[in-house]
Amino acid sequence: MKITEHIANANGKTLFSFELLPPVKGQSIQQIYNAIDPLMEFKPPFIDVTYHREDYIYKQHPNGLLEKVTYRKRPGTVAICAAIINRYKVDAVPHLICGGFTREETENALIDLQFLGIDNVLVLRGDARKTDPAFIPTPGGHAYACDLLEQVMGLNQGRYLHEDHDANRTDFCIGVAAYPEKHFEAPNMETDFRYLKKKVDMGANFIVTQMFFDNQKYFSFVDQCRQHGINIPIIPGLKPITSSKQLINLPKIFHIDIPLELSEAVAACKSEADVKETGIEWMIAQCKELVKFGAPVLHFYTMGNPEPTKRIAQAVF
Ligand code: FAD
Repeated sequence: MKITEHIANANGKTLFSFELLPPVKGQSIQQIYNAIDPLMEFKPPFIDVTYHREDYIYKQHPNGLLEKVTYRKRPGTVAICAAIINRYKVDAVPHLICGGFTREETENALIDLQFLGIDNVLVLRGDARKTDPAFIPTPGGHAYACDLLEQVMGLNQGRYLHEDHDANRTDFCIGVAAYPEKHFEAPNMETDFRYLKKKVDMGANFIVTQMFFDNQKYFSFVDQCRQHGINIPIIPGLKPITSSKQLINLPKIFHIDIPLELSEAVAACKSEADVKETGIEWMIAQCKELVKFGAPVLHFYTMGNPEPTKRIAQAVF
């Protein structure tokens, strides 16, 4: 079922959902099930699975020479989505990224997704390869999420790359990403809003936000979206702080602020166990306020660790 239908059917009740990363290559699908099983009691209507572009690694040969090798650390997104649908009878939402795909490969992937019965996709540009200073599009691929969105919308209208006869139309419900604290490359919030509005005008059906720790940022973002004529559901993305090093890592990786009150509370903790409790308590308070506000879904970035999310969901749902 489409995410927009899940939201409409909930009649204003806030839903629970979460995101998983595919296991690192060499680990089994059981890792995915272990991350999902403890959260099924909260009846997620959908589960997201991230997609990760290839990276370059250097292999040293016995003669000392280094060989540059292309390597995908976390393969399996589409297969994991199929396994989730099959095992849990809930919708699985694969993330689709520009990086690492030509248009042809994207088209073929979308055909696979439709054949598997996947109704929703989250359309993204994708992160840069770790060794690249900035995002570099794949030759023959897309540079921005809106270009990929155009291709998915095209397929929804029966427009394939090379087929000029009447072709089967897909019917994907399409999500896009947004950043209550601005995407780190956008020169200002207004420019970021213009591109978000473009994605919405092109046919995006729902938005999932970057994580935030200050609800006022989300409330103000929703308000500004509405002022810009962006009227689709805006799903808040959430992640509790669970270790003291995240005070540095989360702002560095995700370009978000940690409110002073939270950073001081974490800094005052006497142990990592205390930090985790503080992070969970903060997130419970955030979630209760978001439910009161009428957020359509609380969407958790579990990073494969279900326990903190379970504690939060128990307190909120
Ligand atoms: P875009 O919408 O393409 O925007 C990127 C930047 O370019 C923005 O600054 C925007 O303002 C600007 N821009 C947009 N369109 C244009 C244009 N036409 N011309 C000029 N500038 C433009 N990454 C992964 O690799 N895998 C994942 O699974 C993944 N999942 C994510 C899930 C969520 C909910 C979020 C919020 C992020 C996720 N990311 C993921 C990270 C994401 O790929 C990065 O944040 C990436 O840098 C931007 O992606 P986007 O889709 O927002 O890009």
